[in-house]
Amino acid sequence: MQMQTDLLQEARRQAEICNACRYCEGYCSVFPALHAERAFSDGDLTQLANLCHNCRGCYYACQYTAPHEFDLNLPQALANVRQDSWGDLAFPQTAGRAFQKNGVMIAVAAVIGFALLFWAARALGSLGGAGFYAVLSHNAMVAIFLPAFLFPLVSIGISLRRYWRRVEAQPLKWMHLVTALGQAANMKNLRGGHGDGCNFEDEDRFSHARRAVHQAVMHGFLLCFASTSVATVMDYALDKPAPYGLFSLPKLLGLSGGLLLVLGCAEMIRLKLRSDRALGAQGAFGGEIAFVGLLGFVGFSGLVLYAFGQTAAMPLLLALHLGAVLAFFLLTPFTKMAHGFYRLAALAVDAQRLSDLSQRASMSMNPSASPTANSNGDLARNNT
Ligand code: SF4
Ligand code: SF4
Repeated sequence: MQMQTDLLQEARRQAEICNACRYCEGYCSVFPALHAERAFSDGDLTQLANLCHNCRGCYYACQYTAPHEFDLNLPQALANVRQDSWGDLAFPQTAGRAFQKNGVMIAVAAVIGFALLFWAARALGSLGGAGFYAVLSHNAMVAIFLPAFLFPLVSIGISLRRYWRRVEAQPLKWMHLVTALGQAANMKNLRGGHGDGCNFEDEDRFSHARRAVHQAVMHGFLLCFASTSVATVMDYALDKPAPYGLFSLPKLLGLSGGLLLVLGCAEMIRLKLRSDRALGAQGAFGGEIAFVGLLGFVGFSGLVLYAFGQTAAMPLLLALHLGAVLAFFLLTPFTKMAHGFYRLAALAVDAQRLSDLSQRASMSMNPSASPTANSNGDLARNNT
């Protein structure tokens, strides 16, 4: 596995300038982690890059951006390393790199290709099922979507293991994972270091819009997932197969989730189009838009299917929706969707760092249990 050395070199150059400057100390969790280092290995830069959420606050505060000779653009330098690390750590790596280069084409081709397959497969018949199962049998759906659901889990699991090794993290502890999950769930870092939001789409003005759309997309996705899970339990455990009425739990969860997903993705695309592309990863814009578009299309096609599910258009709409869902699952490890998992890993590694730091601080306040520095500046346990 090989990351692009020019991207790492540029991020290293800029991180060293920031380390000397220290003006942005309170902006985000990147700077305390950056200031804790004297030199930056490839693993350190990968960790810093995945801690950064591209709020762009440091860019607008920086006195060393172009035309200054230092030409600082830390959001872009870290975004480039972050993007490259996802391609490099992906499993299989070829698919990760290919999606980064041709994300839009691959996403569109996958949706259309899978939709055509489902459209053709309906000719095989349903073996007498009702509703959607009259188009594609229940067993065929399970046989297709169960492996498609498991594949991203296995693939992302392998990528995270690679990440853990790359950044040379210690074995994961439960408390660090809980801290990371808490921060990821409320998206604390998207509030900005001062709580006023970030500068992503509004240049030097602060806004909470990006945090709000991330919350909408995350909750929309979780509601849709909950809808499918509840429907599965109702089918298998309670012997109540689909279709379900408007006021049933699967429908209420699915409709509210679909709406949140569509609105969140539409607004996310609008914010991305307003933002300054020169502060994001080079060449990643199309792939990012493709992924958000695909996710929004999953929600949209689900809502349209619900609205027109009783008409003659149902088989076509179902084929499109299933094609989008299948493309989404299979492409997840290579799209921006994977960033949530890498970010979670980066937050857990940062929680390790902070807990080590506080342990050392409490040891230094309690000399009887503290490590002492030897002549090389290394820490050695004081056993007296
Ligand atoms: S981004 Fe600019 S102002 Fe902020 S720490 Fe780096 S060099 Fe200093
Ligand atoms: S872009 Fe935002 S999150 Fe990234 S280093 Fe700068 S201030 Fe931190």
